[in-house]
Amino acid sequence: MIAELITRSEPTLSFEFFPPKDETGEVVLWRSFDSLLELSPDFVSVTYGAGGSNQSKSLAVLGKMASRIPTIGHLTCVGATFASTRATISSFEDAGVAAILAIRGDAPKENPGALEQGELKTALELVQQVTEHSDMEVGVAAFPEIHPESADLAHDIKVLKFKQDAGAKYAFTQLFFKVDAYIDLVDAARKAGVTIPIVPGVMPISNAKGVLRMAELSGAEVPAELVAELHAATDDELARDIGMTYSIKFAKELLAAGAPGLHIFSLNHHRAAEELARGAFSRLSR
Ligand code: FAD
Repeated sequence: MIAELITRSEPTLSFEFFPPKDETGEVVLWRSFDSLLELSPDFVSVTYGAGGSNQSKSLAVLGKMASRIPTIGHLTCVGATFASTRATISSFEDAGVAAILAIRGDAPKENPGALEQGELKTALELVQQVTEHSDMEVGVAAFPEIHPESADLAHDIKVLKFKQDAGAKYAFTQLFFKVDAYIDLVDAARKAGVTIPIVPGVMPISNAKGVLRMAELSGAEVPAELVAELHAATDDELARDIGMTYSIKFAKELLAAGAPGLHIFSLNHHRAAEELARGAFSRLSR
């Protein structure tokens, strides 16, 4: 279903959300979701707390979104058993989720040994569980700037090929800010026989401080000129303009480089995500 959308000729537009933590977050999420649906996105995705934290909230959000638009549920396997994973896969399918984004997750700070304690050790095993125990599609993660635990890009691509061979239909990328990193990833993937579409994940830079912090956490390199311009901005509004102008240019360059769509990290807010979508897709420009 989602694979069909991603492989059609017109690039897809999609948004990522996360399950809200409290009632205020709930109101903000649904307001943003309703606003962004007005742009007629092709699908949405909902993140998952590693270790299954907030699982019932994830399911409630997934079910509600899936009743309105094709929805991908992210699912992690860090610390999980095979039995609990199969149960969660079934509950996603019962909630009407179209696809699972099968990712490993990272050990939480409070339990650094979680990876060793779980029965599933890698996302590849989760891909296998989803394909064996459900009819949902499976997507996986890809890393334009190399996964922090990987030695090099060639290793990442080898793992991506294992996942494709196990049934993954597409990949979504980690946060990144340099078009060349995406082009190099796709080139290396194609040379190694990875044929699945690789959809870039794009973050609107509306809050410079927040995005720089997220980039640091994920290891994404922010171009030095952009950092300098953001630091030189005399007020927040100017920094926002600089960041959003960069994000829109970046997104357009990704599409021009052949990206099959843009998966926009909404962070549950609609204003910047909408601005980025309208700036990047001529069909949405006003
Ligand atoms: P894996 O594929 O298991 O890879 C982890 C490391 O092990 C890599 O270095 C890989 O090369 C290596 N490896 C894996 N399999 C093999 C193998 N067979 N042989 C040799 N080496 C192997 N985290 C969350 O907690 N919740 C989310 O909702 C979430 N959503 C995400 C969405 C996207 C698009 C991305 C890119 C990341 C997301 N993450 C999320 C973060 C993700 O959990 C971390 O990046 C995690 O460290 C790696 O996940 P993975 O699926 O790539 O793991």
